[in-house]
Amino acid sequence: MKPKRTLVGLPVYQPGKPLEEVKRELGLSEVIKLASNENPFGCSPKVWESLKEEESFTAMYPEGLAPELREELAGHLGVAPSKLIFGNGSDEVVQMIARTFMEPGDEAVMADITFPRYKTQTVIEGGTPVEVPLKNGVHDLKGMARAITERTRIVWICNPNNPTGTIIRREELESFLAEVPEDVLVVMDEAYHEYVDDPSYPDTVSLLDRDPRLIVLRTFSKIYGLAAFRIGYGVAAEAVVTELNKVREPFNANRLAQRAALAALGDQDFVRRCFEANRDGMKQIQSQLDEWGLPHFPSQGNFLLLDTGRPAEEVFQCLLRKGVIVRSGAALGYPTHLRVTIGNEKQNERFLDELAQCLGKRR
Ligand code: PMP
Repeated sequence: MKPKRTLVGLPVYQPGKPLEEVKRELGLSEVIKLASNENPFGCSPKVWESLKEEESFTAMYPEGLAPELREELAGHLGVAPSKLIFGNGSDEVVQMIARTFMEPGDEAVMADITFPRYKTQTVIEGGTPVEVPLKNGVHDLKGMARAITERTRIVWICNPNNPTGTIIRREELESFLAEVPEDVLVVMDEAYHEYVDDPSYPDTVSLLDRDPRLIVLRTFSKIYGLAAFRIGYGVAAEAVVTELNKVREPFNANRLAQRAALAALGDQDFVRRCFEANRDGMKQIQSQLDEWGLPHFPSQGNFLLLDTGRPAEEVFQCLLRKGVIVRSGAALGYPTHLRVTIGNEKQNERFLDELAQCLGKRR
């Protein structure tokens, strides 16, 4: 066996601890998982109603180009249907972009620390990741512009950034784009887009018309609550989408996922309620952390990166023993931080109660 050279030293992805496994290990029935930025309210009830209609299609291949979903989503976003590409999660669109545009020896600029798949996919394609440290948890766009060389093919921007939750603003993005050479693609990963309430957050889809270098990534895994179905998408110039379609697996976005996404998209009331609950839950957690004097990044996502002031792994293990699964910052490059997903009100209370005990704080 001889795997390709670029895989040497590449670690296998380690997902967060699965809920059922932790329940079994601890013998606890009341375990909560606030580790993977999933929607604590599940998905719209309309999703499962609509899936019943799919039963007779089980034996048939799906339509890889997702025509119905494409039309509906294009209308929702106000773009031409030809500007959309779907993936088995936006993870797969990240993979398609790297496969399509990176040759061995090419460079991709990204933040350090950000969503790790940009780096992994760059390495797999034989490219070189050029990582530019965050400044106070925020993308340093000036530094990223300076890091571009004649070998740079792609700049990856995660907005809001995972794991810090910070955003870059419209004017910052526009001045950055003015500095990026014409042949460099700029990928805006907006997995948490629907949670943002800062009015200075850029409307990248509207920028696409005048900037064919942009690719915007979004997903049905977060606010739409469909992480299990695996469906995400990219919005880009038609010429970019045409190239991406050459590497796309023919039946990548499965039929149930397409149907589920269509139903979820049609229930914007559910989306609004999740947005509001997340905003309230964020305040609920932040105000307690502020009272304790625990620093945290200003998050616009459905998660929060907070500094416990202790080794993250210890606090993570303490919470785990109490049946609360979060993400240890140690694995993310923040040795004293935890990344916690905003849950429902009860889950947030439980997290704060257990965190108080682990840190010896009063509530
Ligand atoms: N981008 C970011 C920033 C993410 O946090 C995630 C999920 N953790 C993804 C992309 C991938 O999402 P999915 O593949 O579920 O669409």
